[in-house]
Amino acid sequence: MEMWFTEKQTENVGITCKTEKTLYMETTQYQEIALIQTLQFGRMLVLDGTVQTTENDEFIYHEMITHVPLFTHPFPKNILVVGGGDGGAVREIVKHPSVQKATLVEIDGKVIEVSKNFLPTISCALENPKVEVLVEDGIQYVKKHKNKFDVILIDSTDPIGAAVGLFSKEFYKAIYESLKEDGLFVAQTESPFFNKELISKVYQDIKIIFPITKLYLCAIPTYPSGFWSFTMGSKKYDPLKIDENKMINIDTKYYTREIHKSAFSLPKFVKDLLK
Ligand code: SAM
Repeated sequence: MEMWFTEKQTENVGITCKTEKTLYMETTQYQEIALIQTLQFGRMLVLDGTVQTTENDEFIYHEMITHVPLFTHPFPKNILVVGGGDGGAVREIVKHPSVQKATLVEIDGKVIEVSKNFLPTISCALENPKVEVLVEDGIQYVKKHKNKFDVILIDSTDPIGAAVGLFSKEFYKAIYESLKEDGLFVAQTESPFFNKELISKVYQDIKIIFPITKLYLCAIPTYPSGFWSFTMGSKKYDPLKIDENKMINIDTKYYTREIHKSAFSLPKFVKDLLK
């Protein structure tokens, strides 16, 4: 008998993967967690029926949410990740030698536990001595810590449940205050095909608060529409004015110096969303 998993990405479209087995399933206080062995993408972490990350294509999302902001800041030392319990962003952060500390604030401790147990290639840096892992609400954490971080990454689920507040203007104001005077942040901001209104709203909200606001894109096979956006708010540094000579070489599979720039070249329909 063949077993297939389908994520209903919208009311009318989904992604379907043939599965070998379900390795783990549990409903926590926050969400339903599933870890599925798929034939095409390897192990897949699914929260509330939504694909979060897979062994085979996770590098794209994790490199792009991390290296674009960390190479935009000339000397990122103190980094905060909100969400990101799978550990993929933290794995990329510790590749930067300037980083002294990465704090990961994930609301659901089970996501961290499941990732450590079933996704070792993604979660491998969660035990790194530079990494502090806290299980608490990222919104409350950000409000409590002012003028502290060089770079903040919002590696969140879709704006549902505990993640709704991570897409609000109030939260972006708190992020601004939590950053140092030359700090910057990046949030994952969903699909330009399926989340047009969200992208427009988030961009305008961030633009009111941060002097430099820019959206960039990448291609992720397992995310809705395969086309994904990130939005950066920066107090001082422009991601398109980085000094390439100062960029160190790190081991990546998607991110390159060329991609750093080209990711900000937007198709017309995406540009129109930002007007
Ligand atoms: N790469 C993923 C994606 O875009 O599909 C996101 C990965 S990560 C697993 C998202 C995490 O954000 C989840 O583990 C979820 O528990 C966490 N999260 C949601 N709301 C949160 C909040 N308010 N504070 C901290 N973590 C939160």
